[in-house]
This record gives sequence, C-alpha cells and structure tokens, in this order.
Amino acid sequence: MDFETMDKEYVLQTYARNYVNFKHGINATLFDDKGRDYIDFTSGIGVVSVGHGNQRLADAISDQARHIIHTSNLYMIEPQAKLAKKICELTGYDVGVFFGNSGAEANEGAIKLARKYGEKKFANKKYKVLTLEHSFHGRTITTVKATGQESFHKTAFAPYPAGFSYTKEIADLYNAIDDETVAVMIELVQGEGGVKAFPKKDIQDLAKFLKEKEILLIIDEVQSGVFRSGEFLATSLYEIEPDIITLAKGLAGGVPIGAVISKHKDIFEAGDHGSTFGGNFLSTRAGLEALAILEEYKQSGMLDEALIYFDAKLKVTCKAFPTLFESVEGLGLMRGIKCQSGDILASVIKKAFEQGVLVLKAGKNTLRFLPPLTISKEEIDEGFKRLASACSTLL
Ligand SMILES: *Cc1c(COP(=O)(O)O)cnc(C)c1O
Repeated sequence: MDFETMDKEYVLQTYARNYVNFKHGINATLFDDKGRDYIDFTSGIGVVSVGHGNQRLADAISDQARHIIHTSNLYMIEPQAKLAKKICELTGYDVGVFFGNSGAEANEGAIKLARKYGEKKFANKKYKVLTLEHSFHGRTITTVKATGQESFHKTAFAPYPAGFSYTKEIADLYNAIDDETVAVMIELVQGEGGVKAFPKKDIQDLAKFLKEKEILLIIDEVQSGVFRSGEFLATSLYEIEPDIITLAKGLAGGVPIGAVISKHKDIFEAGDHGSTFGGNFLSTRAGLEALAILEEYKQSGMLDEALIYFDAKLKVTCKAFPTLFESVEGLGLMRGIKCQSGDILASVIKKAFEQGVLVLKAGKNTLRFLPPLTISKEEIDEGFKRLASACSTLL
C-alpha cells in the first residue's frame, strides 16, 4: 500500500492535502523522497521558527528525551519554570505564564482567565468577549466561536458557547461594548484573515479606552509572537500593555506548546485550569533552546537583516507582476501579497509548488509567507527566483 492510499484509508480526512513525502530539511529547505528540494516559505505555518533540522534544537530535545520527557504538573518542572521566567523577561512586563499545547488551548485559557476576572472583580458578572471579523483564534468549539468568520460556525457543530460577538472594524468595537463585556480579543496582524496589520494609533486608542473601562485586552500573538514581527512580541511594536497575551506556533520550534501570559496573577487558583501535557519537560526544554537561538539571532542583527532583505524581495516580486498582484501586506516575517483574485492566488500556489517553493494562502486572495526566522539570504533569493518563474507561467 502506498502512503497516499494509507493516509486516505486510515487518517480522518479533515485536510485537503498535497501528497508530497518530505524526508528531511535543512533550515528553510525541504527535501522529498524523490530528492527534490523546496524552499519553505511556510515553516509549517509559522512553527519551525529556527528552521528544519536545527542541530542545537535537536540536541536539546534528544538530551531531554534521554532524561525525562514528562512527569505531569503535579510536580515541579525545572525547564517549565525557566521558560516561564525567560518569557516574562522577554516581554518586559510583570507577568505570569500558563502552558498548554496549542494556540487554541492558549486562547481557551485566556478566555477562562478573562471570565474568572469578570466574576471576581465586578458585582455583576462580566463574561462577554468581543473579537473582530476576519480574525482567527482556533478550532475548539469555544475558540472557533471566538473566530469572527461565519464560515467557520458550521451548524453541524452547534450549539456554541454564548458570549461571543464580532465587529467589522476596530472603530466599531467601542459601540459593541456593554456592561457584560469582560474582554476584547484581537490579533495585531490578522494571520489567517489576510495578513492585515492594524494601524498603531487605532490599537493604542483602543488599549487606552479599554483600560479606562476596566475591560481586558487580550492579544492573540499565537502567530505574530516569538520574534515573527522582528520583536519578541508584536505588542512591543505597538507599545501597548495588554492584560493577556497568547503564544504558541513558533515558541518551541515545532514541538507542540502554547502559553497564556498575564499580569493578572491572582485570578487563577489551584484547580481552576490545567493540562496533562502542558509545559512538560520536552516542550519547555525545546522552548528554552528555541528562544536562546532566536534571541542570539536577534541580538546579532541577523533577524533584522533577514526581514529587510525579505521585504525588498517581496516588493520587487509584487511590482514585477501587476496583472497578478496588488499590494504587499504584513510586517516582520509575517507577510502577504494581495492577489488580483482568489483564482490567481490558487494558481500561484500550485505553480509555486511545481517550481519548488512552498507558500500559503490567507483570507480569500492573499498569498502568505511565514518563512523560518533563520532563513538565509541564499534561500530567500532562490525562493523568490522560483516564485517569479511560477508567476511567469501564469502571464
Ligand atoms: C494558528 C493560530 C491559532 C490556533 O493555533 P492552533 O495551535 O492551531 O490551535 C490561534 N490564533 C492565531 C492567531 C493563529 O494564527
């Protein structure tokens, strides 16, 4: 039985998969079972932050696996304490961390924290959470309901938890707030929604308003966090101090992990929240190593160089194919090119794959780029060269 048949027979078919069989990777280059190489502008949807086959990360993981992989949260976990400390130092805020295993789980934790805050701090319990249209917050029943895209709220999965609503624009949030609203949850750069970075002033005004009203600001940095924006948190670029921040994707270089970060350290008590796997020895050790690698990369100036170089290539590519592309979007290494149509986007992704470069889709018509943060100039050059070849076949 070949692997494609095996997959189709035994794996529940929730993904529209491409049946390439990757065997190994070096930084931003993947190799399949036929020896073909691909420049990876996706990093496993923003996860493989330190690149494929990273030796330092692999050594840390294998060393940890040889000692202890998992003990449960009933006992102290040294690398968990260290990773929490490191994350707090990197944020520059006085915060505490809860570890889970994914972005959705981090957002669930954030929503639970907000709701408990809403009960503890006010005479009339506040529980409603406002989000934005075109947002993406996860796939669990609650986080999919928090996701402001009606197409995700399939009736098959109903009923959904109450207390979630959406507005089209940030400006509309103000009027949507009522005396049961406990939190506003947003991404600073909408990833799945089209790689849209919100204007700094709009976010700062919102943060100030919410603070005055004692409504929590939850920033979903599951995709934008962990140096993807060029800073540890995109939040720092916006110069705001949210009540809760969530992280996941790039935090442990590919080992599943999620984190809820909050300055409200007195809300959760023992028994309020938990996770069997969350923050175990393996994932937090991987997180520590991934952060050490990325911090050095940032401090050496190489991360900033990579994102300037990537930005220049992106702009040249967008300009070179005006019949296909409209504009360049996003920030840091979380980028997009808006296409002239959804059909063009689908063709570009398909042709790019044939030319050996992996790219993603965001929203209806945005070509999305989430390369490993350690991508080299040579890989950027080669990836854009292949992308240009792909685009040429569509003229
Ligand atoms: C990917 C993503 C999530 C969901 O993360 P999972 O690990 O797939 O659960 C949530 N929010 C944002 C902004 C994301 O990009």
